[in-house]
Amino acid sequence: VEPTRRANRQRILETIIRRESVSRTELARIAGLAQATVSDIVAELIVDRLVLEDRLPASGRGRPRMRLHVNPQGPSIGGVFLSPDGQVDMLVTDLRGEPSLETRFHIAPCFDGRALAPQLAEGLVAAIGEARLATLLAIGVSVNAAVQTPAGLVHWTLSGDAEAEPMQAMLEQRLGIAAHVDNVANIIGRSLRWTMAERSDGETCVIIVGPGIGMCRLQGGVVQNGADGFNPEFGHVKLGAAGETPCYCGASGCLAAVASIFGLLSQAGQRWSEQFASQFDQLANRALGGDERARALFHRAGRALGSAVANHINACSPAEIAIVSMSSLWSDLARAGFEAQLRADTLPLLHGRAPISFRSFSPELYVRGAIALVLDRLHETG
Ligand SMILES: [Zn+2]
Repeated sequence: VEPTRRANRQRILETIIRRESVSRTELARIAGLAQATVSDIVAELIVDRLVLEDRLPASGRGRPRMRLHVNPQGPSIGGVFLSPDGQVDMLVTDLRGEPSLETRFHIAPCFDGRALAPQLAEGLVAAIGEARLATLLAIGVSVNAAVQTPAGLVHWTLSGDAEAEPMQAMLEQRLGIAAHVDNVANIIGRSLRWTMAERSDGETCVIIVGPGIGMCRLQGGVVQNGADGFNPEFGHVKLGAAGETPCYCGASGCLAAVASIFGLLSQAGQRWSEQFASQFDQLANRALGGDERARALFHRAGRALGSAVANHINACSPAEIAIVSMSSLWSDLARAGFEAQLRADTLPLLHGRAPISFRSFSPELYVRGAIALVLDRLHETG
C-alpha cells in the first residue's frame, strides 16, 4: 500500500474511532480529503468488518442520514508490554479502545532475548487461554530493544547479542495469530500522538527515559523509521558530555551511558538487575536527600539529554518534543541540568520554537500504544 493511502486509511479509521459516529461528508472535511478518496477507503474498512454504516431516521425533511461507526462486534486487539524485569501487562480492547480484559503476569527477567519469545507466548496462553487468544485480530508487543519493522526482528542491545531474533515470527507461530513487535519508544509515541500538535511541516518527537533512552519521530501521526526499518537509537548518540563513560552497547560516550536508568546505576557503581526500578528509586532518594555524588550524576544526566535534544533540534527542527520518564524523580532531579545545556547547545535562532513537555510514564501508555501499533499495521497491509 502506498504511504499516502496508508496514512489516509489510518487517519480515517482513527477519526471514526474518536468521533464515535460520523458521516462521510464530515469525514472528508475533518480529514481534509476528497469525497471519492474517503468513499474508497470507507468501503475497504466496511469489507474488513472494522466499520459499520447505519441509516439514521430522517429528522424532519431531507434524506435519511448515513452514519459511520466502529463495528462493536468487530475484532479485539491485544496490547502487550514487556518490561525487562519480567513483568508483562496486557490489555484486550475492541477497536474503540474499550477494555474487555486487563491482566498482569510475570515471566523470568530477561535482559537477553533468546528465551523470551517462547516464554512470553507460554505466559500469554496461560494468562488468557488459547481459545480467547485465537479470537484476537492481532497483538502488539512493546520491547526494550532495537527493532526492525515491519518484520519485527529484535536486536537485544542490552545483552550485546549481535544476532537479530525473529521474535514477531516466533510469536505468530506459537500463538497462531498476527503479532506486531516494535521498540518501546515507537509504542509510546503512538500512544501520545493525538495529544500533540498535528503539524504537517515538521516532526513531532517523543523521547523516552527508561532503562535505556529511545525516540519516536512522527510525521502527520505516522511513525518514521530509518532504512531497513530500524527505529531511532537515540540513546546511542555520542556526546562530549558523556566522556568515555562505557555504555551497555559496548561503546563509550553514549547518551544512555550517562542519562538512562541503567546508565545512572552503572555510574553509581551498582550492578543493575531486575530490581532496577527500586535500585533507581534508592539512588534518586539519595540525591533528594542531598548526597552530592548522586546529585551530580543526575545533573550530568540532564545536561547530556539537553545536549542531545539540542543537537536533534539543530539537525531536524522538530515541531514539538515530549519527554516521558519512567520515574518523575528523573525529571525532578535532572531538569535543571537539562534546561541549562539545552539553551547552551541549541542554535539561537531555533531556541524556544519547539514546545518541550515532560510527562510521566504509565503502563496505560504502553498497552494503548501497542494497540495503536496493531491499528497502524492494518493499514500497512490492508
Ligand atoms: Zn551505547
